Amino acid sequence: MSQSTSSVFYRSSVPVPLAVRADGPYLWDAGGRRYLDGSSGALVANVGQGREDVAEAMAAAARTLAFVHGSQFTSPALEGYAARLMAFLDLPGYRFWAVSGGSEATESAIKLARQYHAERGERGRYRVVTRRPSYHGASLGSLAASGMGARRELYTPLMNEDAWPKLPKPDPAVDGAQDAEALRALIARLGAGSVAAFMAEPVVGASDAALAPAAGYYERVREICREAGVLFIADEVMSGMGRCGTPLAVRQWGGVTPDIVVLGKGLAAGYAPLAGIAASAEVYGTVMRGSGAFKHGFTYAGHPVSVAAGAAVLDVLEREALLDRSRTLGARLLDGLRDLQARHPAVLEVRGRGLMLGVVLGDPDTGRSYAVPGLAARVGRAALERGLITYPGSGAVDGVRGDHLLLGPPLSLTDAQ
Ligand code: PLP
Repeated sequence: MSQSTSSVFYRSSVPVPLAVRADGPYLWDAGGRRYLDGSSGALVANVGQGREDVAEAMAAAARTLAFVHGSQFTSPALEGYAARLMAFLDLPGYRFWAVSGGSEATESAIKLARQYHAERGERGRYRVVTRRPSYHGASLGSLAASGMGARRELYTPLMNEDAWPKLPKPDPAVDGAQDAEALRALIARLGAGSVAAFMAEPVVGASDAALAPAAGYYERVREICREAGVLFIADEVMSGMGRCGTPLAVRQWGGVTPDIVVLGKGLAAGYAPLAGIAASAEVYGTVMRGSGAFKHGFTYAGHPVSVAAGAAVLDVLEREALLDRSRTLGARLLDGLRDLQARHPAVLEVRGRGLMLGVVLGDPDTGRSYAVPGLAARVGRAALERGLITYPGSGAVDGVRGDHLLLGPPLSLTDAQ
């Protein structure tokens, strides 16, 4: 496929292959070349591709009830899915708000947090504290919340920076509870009465390759938020749905339960656009008892075909015990990566949980992850040429660049594959 004769608005001038077919963890391009999907796209295709049962469930939904608008109807597909999903995530009493993508979902969480406080008469709470680096989406609100300098720099004139204070990234080498004290100090400095929410990726994804804080961090974050009347939003768009070996990654920190959980990617595992938020009974109830309506909505929210895909993906996760698989295969892959680190000087660090794994690349002489421009992208391209798909990333944070690869094959990957 020649880019110059195409009508497609490509993301980049660097040509990408034309994918024509996929099965399980493999994709084929138009030239018949096979690729192993070592990153499930962008950690999305968690159950592998080409599943007849998922496709069949989507086709049945399209035949039965292709669309309803959320302001006019609900649907059996959405009602059934929401109940099942909240049970799967062990979030009793939580309510599921479905959208089509992760950016829509984080924006929904932010707006809900703001409205929750307004309903309680605390209209002064507008700030959303996040961390640097972080990635919460590409739309303007979710990008403003993100701590990724390079991606947001052009748009900062469109953002009220005062509303988006950032904490430094967690340091896994520091005691987690102590590390979290930075949040308490920041909220105190800003004035708790101005802060609506703290939002974090439990395991950092696109911006810092599977970075996770030490034990005790989110437990303390939970307490700090409660004490300050600030909602704790866990952005589990990448880390959730078994990717890290548990339904929610944040629960690996002492079983912590956030006020709002944001989900996406693995929900429908790439079969359909599906994301959403789960809001606690307190948050939902406050809005419903107050003004009576969440002042927000997207046309495709709760699309019957998407939620049918989500339900079929839950079937697969449960039937094939893929969360167990995420833990065992992830441990094995991490062992292999440790071995690679021992043998390859440019591999500075390997880390991760379940099948969300990060490889930090850099200059072996200085031990810094910024010395070789475009290193991750080059390694990613070289891997692709050899038939392996990875998810390379790089970013500048506080003037320090990091280069890394995210690895996250489908949870259904077999030993032979
Ligand atoms: N939040 C996190 C943690 C993500 O990793 C992403 C995407 O990578 C998003 C939000 C945005 O999701 P989407 O690209 O579906 O809009």
